[in-house]
Amino acid sequence: MSVEERPQPDCPPGWVLVQPELVGLCGSDFSIVGGHHGRAAPPLVLGHEMVGTVAGSEPGSPPPGTRVVVNPLLPCGQCWSCRNELPHVCRNLRLIGIDLDGALAELLTVPAGKLLAVDPATPVAEAALTEPLAVAVHAVRRAALSAEQTVLVIGAGPIGVLIGLVAEAAGCRVMVSEPHPTRRRLATDLGLGTLPADVGPLEALSAATGGQLADVTFDCAGRPPVAALLSAVTRVRGTIVLAGLYGAPAAIDLHAITFAEQALIGSRVYTHADFGHAISLVEGGTLVLGRLAVQTFPLDAVGRAFEAARQGETLKVLVDVRR
Ligand SMILES: [Zn+2]
Ligand SMILES: [Zn+2]
Repeated sequence: MSVEERPQPDCPPGWVLVQPELVGLCGSDFSIVGGHHGRAAPPLVLGHEMVGTVAGSEPGSPPPGTRVVVNPLLPCGQCWSCRNELPHVCRNLRLIGIDLDGALAELLTVPAGKLLAVDPATPVAEAALTEPLAVAVHAVRRAALSAEQTVLVIGAGPIGVLIGLVAEAAGCRVMVSEPHPTRRRLATDLGLGTLPADVGPLEALSAATGGQLADVTFDCAGRPPVAALLSAVTRVRGTIVLAGLYGAPAAIDLHAITFAEQALIGSRVYTHADFGHAISLVEGGTLVLGRLAVQTFPLDAVGRAFEAARQGETLKVLVDVRR
């Protein structure tokens, strides 16, 4: 990774120039930098979680100076998913910051339709969380949660914590399972129920629920030992939502899922409506996102920002690209 001078990016018709302000780092960025992402290839400007201001004008785009977030999904528009109003699961889905240059730059160009204006009264660091919040909103919607349900969230990274907050706001009882002591404490600090880590998740959840287990389990860890546990921690006729990404196939007990008649649901990114809902949650302040442990680094220190994000001592790392 390096910071370098580049010419101003091309702005084809229908695209708009945006001046990024804050950019969030996420797990997929680590896999890109590590060289094991399925599609991304250098040279590439990273950054798909962003808040910024409009710097150009184009029909269909908010006026220059408007603070915006960007929906980074670029569906092909041709495949079955795209033709059936499911462009977020496009078979050829591309993302700004993964398949083409992203927001870790002073200037970026995006299609005008991908910009969504944000209330200027919203703290910019909270607006920067819109994209991961949209992932959480989508996963919760896929689960079709109802109030009073017991929700188990495995993995207290940004997505797990945001799913916990959205589920709690929906009236659910949330239990978080996380082995990393700092991450567990960050979840506790946000008022989320956390399971003790000195026993296994099944034993801890069983004790916490009087043997009832989870109505809905969100796998936000994407690790093989978690896959092996998913059926056991979920009640009969319960729902398992896969919200974390697995780097390789993992063993899962399909016999157990059949016998318990559980529903196993995949959840990928978000629809445009989920993105809009995430903005209204950010603007409304109901989740009090300002409480989240966020660390911000300047663009020049992007290497240190990645290091901090990898260590997981803070919930989210942002890069401030403003000069
Ligand atoms: Zn991401
Ligand atoms: Zn498509």
